[in-house]
Amino acid sequence: MATIFTKIISGEIPSYKIAETEDFYAFLDINPNAEGHTLCIPKKEVNKIFDLDEATYIGLMKFSHRIAIALEKAIPCKRIGMTVIGLEVPHAHVHLIPLQTMEDALFSNKQKLEPEEFEAIANKITSFL
Ligand code: AMP
Repeated sequence: MATIFTKIISGEIPSYKIAETEDFYAFLDINPNAEGHTLCIPKKEVNKIFDLDEATYIGLMKFSHRIAIALEKAIPCKRIGMTVIGLEVPHAHVHLIPLQTMEDALFSNKQKLEPEEFEAIANKITSFL
């Protein structure tokens, strides 16, 4: 069965898209630790990140790097944190999180944002790509 992220890639489930290439897709996390929390995923549906073939893994890191540079310009923060967890969605993904404090790296601290706020954040990040 297709993962929720595969459904996001196909457009079956909406997302606040940041960028897309032939092989990768980036969008805002719907339950963000901090404003600008972004997920970068390979279109190839593989559960665990270290099970990706080497080319896809390196491609995902390059893609995440490009997104992180734009994110750091768009969102005031001390730095962009990068985390891989994957306990919730079985489709490899990188979390990019603008960090002000260590609390922003904790997945127990969540921000509630309105749809218009997600839209504005996505547009701002995209403008720095
Ligand atoms: P994990 O698999 O533990 O790395 O967490 C999966 C992440 O995906 C969580 O941070 C969720 O908030 C996020 N997530 C789940 N469903 C969606 C969705 N439909 N749109 C955006 N983010 C999502």
